Amino acid sequence: MRIEAVRTHLLDHRLDHAFESASMRFDRRQHCLVEIVCEDGTVGWGECLGPAGPNAGVVAAYAARLVGRDPLETEKIWLELTNALRDQGQRGLTVTALSGIDIALWDIKGKHFGVPVSTLLGGRFRETVRAYATGSFRKDGVEPVADISAEVAGYRAEGFHAVKIKIGFDVEEDLRVIAAVRDAIGPDVRLMIDGNHGYDVLEAIEVGCRAWDYGIDWFEEPVLPEQLSAYHAVRDGQPIPVAGGETWHGRYGFEEPLRTRAVDIAQPDICGTGGFTEIRRVADLAALHGVRLAPHVWGTGVAIAASLQFIAALAPNPPRRSPIEPILEFDRTPNPFRQAVLATPIDHTDGVVAIPDGPGLGIEIDRAALETYALKDD
Ligand code: CA
Repeated sequence: MRIEAVRTHLLDHRLDHAFESASMRFDRRQHCLVEIVCEDGTVGWGECLGPAGPNAGVVAAYAARLVGRDPLETEKIWLELTNALRDQGQRGLTVTALSGIDIALWDIKGKHFGVPVSTLLGGRFRETVRAYATGSFRKDGVEPVADISAEVAGYRAEGFHAVKIKIGFDVEEDLRVIAAVRDAIGPDVRLMIDGNHGYDVLEAIEVGCRAWDYGIDWFEEPVLPEQLSAYHAVRDGQPIPVAGGETWHGRYGFEEPLRTRAVDIAQPDICGTGGFTEIRRVADLAALHGVRLAPHVWGTGVAIAASLQFIAALAPNPPRRSPIEPILEFDRTPNPFRQAVLATPIDHTDGVVAIPDGPGLGIEIDRAALETYALKDD
């Protein structure tokens, strides 16, 4: 079995209404899929977290090293590609691009052996996972308190057990949003807050202390991801568990935060931290240090499918009669191609998502949707 071609698909949609997190403005949705084709006709799909065009550029730089290789040799290929750009690329786009390639190779491996990737990873601990709704981004010219309250009430009505809202804009306004959201979802729906590293340490501590009364499960990315000592200060200075890690790449990116307990909950993204090959090692590190794992998911159905295969095989820690179950981040923001790229969408029923059990990632790609949403200009 040999790799014949490596392709990228840049998907693009210009939004009618832009939205913002504390650190990023979205006026378009763009994602980069990776397609790896083998000489026997087997095709694997992956996805890269982050800017689509630059990711595609790095995938193209790796591609020449892939053609002619045995796609089943995922560990050897991962190491060779890492070494190829290591000196200038221990973190960043080199790793996000490699993630998309690695996921596509595992998809091929699953199809080759006729089993889901989760079986190759050692077996499925679960067939379903509870999803939490991610939303509440700020919109131009829209008053956030009423707008976000109405949005999260909708998630509750859909059956989601938990919602995550965006803060990190302005301390007083953010606290008004948190209070209104708790009111809108009632006492039983779990609530997480995501600062998107919009605060400094003092602001994050103030928000954490004042938000505690509203029953918050975790406080995500309170401060800049590079500032590990600031993470520690936030953990020490306020009572809400701290989460983070969507921008930490690979085991070297996670080693210090996990060893020093900069976070209570680690959030590696399979499309950003190195694919199946590397996220397993991150999960092992988290288990080693007793840090809870809640994978970050932000992308198309390919990213969701890859995350689901990883989640299916994620060992309970600690093992017990009723173990702590992982939860799935379920992006509810506008993105018409998120599910359209899949022949069968991965949707939720009352906030629960079934983990596909077909070979590889367990999905089929709708090529017509790739055409429809292909990037046509820049
Ligand atoms: Ca986040």
